[in-house]
Amino acid sequence: MEKNLKLFREKIREKKMIEGALEVLQWDLETVAPKKGKENLAQIVGYLSMKEYELTTSKEFEDCVEILKENIEKLNEIEKKEIEELAEDIEKMKKIPPYEYQDYSELIARTQGIWEEAKIENNYEKYRDSLKKIVEYTIKFANYHKKDEKNLYDVILKDYEKGMTTEKLDEFFSMLKKEIVPLLKKIKEKGNPKKQLLQKTKIENQKKFNRFIGEYLGFDFDRGVGAESEHPFTMNITKNDVRLTTKYMEDNPMSAIFSTIHETGHGIYEQQIRDNLQGTILASGGSMGIHESQSRFYENILGRDIHFWKNIYKKAQEFMPFLEKISLEDFYKEINLVEPSLIRTEADELTYSLHIMVRYEIEKGLLTNELNIDDLPKIWKEKMNEYLGVIPTTDSEGIMQDVHWAAGLIGYFPSYALGSAYAAQIYNTMKKEIDVDNILETGELFKIKEWLGNKIHKYGKLKETPEIIKEVTGEELNPRYYIEYLKEKYTKIYNL
Ligand SMILES: [Zn+2]
Repeated sequence: MEKNLKLFREKIREKKMIEGALEVLQWDLETVAPKKGKENLAQIVGYLSMKEYELTTSKEFEDCVEILKENIEKLNEIEKKEIEELAEDIEKMKKIPPYEYQDYSELIARTQGIWEEAKIENNYEKYRDSLKKIVEYTIKFANYHKKDEKNLYDVILKDYEKGMTTEKLDEFFSMLKKEIVPLLKKIKEKGNPKKQLLQKTKIENQKKFNRFIGEYLGFDFDRGVGAESEHPFTMNITKNDVRLTTKYMEDNPMSAIFSTIHETGHGIYEQQIRDNLQGTILASGGSMGIHESQSRFYENILGRDIHFWKNIYKKAQEFMPFLEKISLEDFYKEINLVEPSLIRTEADELTYSLHIMVRYEIEKGLLTNELNIDDLPKIWKEKMNEYLGVIPTTDSEGIMQDVHWAAGLIGYFPSYALGSAYAAQIYNTMKKEIDVDNILETGELFKIKEWLGNKIHKYGKLKETPEIIKEVTGEELNPRYYIEYLKEKYTKIYNL
């Protein structure tokens, strides 16, 4: 037993090192790697993924986990959870033949470069075959992993959100649709004021202000770094090395600001994980849904609140002098402007879930073989028209706008919508315990960071999302809080 525990820790250390190297490579591929060097890096990613696969599926490691599993009652809380998770992973990994795993790892590393080029060139054909292969692999792997799930989409959903099923999501989305679409209609009838925030701002100024925002929210830049990428993301190597990216656009400074606030939410989560989880496989945020709840909480609930801006509007004016001519009230209304649009990452808080619904339905259709890859651009347009009333004229602004599928992340999108729902539910509890408005106005953001740290962040993967939500809010996921939050907010802003 002691011997096995020692071996286990050694192997985990090795696994974490390979994972760390993979993270750095992935980061490099998406931020600074030269175009012509990407193929080689993709091969290194493939090779290292293979090494990790070999380690996790080796007989020695498997036996070790097996023995520890038999003695699970003798382990501490952290070890118990690690063994449970690993036993599950090993079982899943073993079902995938090694050559398929390596081929798939290389495929997704390569496809991200292809997607990027295809998107710039608005050339779906260029991307289509790689996407097709990714979908085929996803279906193949889901078939390997299928147990008693009703369909293959339920199988892959579990990778992102344990306990989530197509049945539950269908109900969740139909509830949102029922409430959001009529609200959207009322808002459209009211109309929007003229936009004033799309003004040229030097990238250098934007970078400085975004850095300020990150620090203001509580992100520790001694243990983290920011860079630029086509698609913003956050990655953690350890809690002392958390990396955020932003995309800057000269004529739209608000875009980078809200994407920075979003990624900072992810980053703060990673930086607040308990020290005694470091070096274990539990040392990163929980499910995708709970992770997105934190980023969306920061981005929308805090970042689009008037109290938040009251305290830093002067600072914002220093970097964006055009704001001097815009009142805080008008600024607040514009950052909460509701307007159906083409791009998910630019979508307002209210229509955002409808963008997710488009992707959810396509993913579900692909996994059940009801949709054909060739038809995706057309289907995309139809669904956008149906839910949002807008139709993209290019595939770059349509089916190719997101990196997720190119990165193999089919089944991820629902987490964004679930994240918003978790966030509203958590906020409802937070308001009862601390004076959020006052904290925002006085700039004591650390109090919010601490609250989230103690209730959610510190646990990393030690607790499952349903358990955390129940502990923090006293009940299971209840989309009513999200719907009420949206209704209340927009009724006020639009005077409905
Ligand atoms: Zn996110």
